[in-house]
Amino acid sequence: MEQQCPLCNGLIEVSENCPSCDGVMMDSGRITAYLGPYSAYLEQQSNIEKCVHLLACQECGLDIRVSVDTVPL
Ligand SMILES: [Zn+2]
Ligand SMILES: [Zn+2]
Repeated sequence: MEQQCPLCNGLIEVSENCPSCDGVMMDSGRITAYLGPYSAYLEQQSNIEKCVHLLACQECGLDIRVSVDTVPL
């Protein structure tokens, strides 16, 4: 079995509200996807236990990072 991110795999939905305006946050994807393959530290870290996602508010545009616990799939 492999540790996988349930959010990346569509098993869960983003359930965060914007800390600024309480709007709906939308998943903008993994942070590692933005940083590319050169970010060895982040990549390694997310592969082992956490997947870091960028969430963007649909109302005010604020973005936050959330760490998603990976699960064995
Ligand atoms: Zn993920
Ligand atoms: Zn907002």
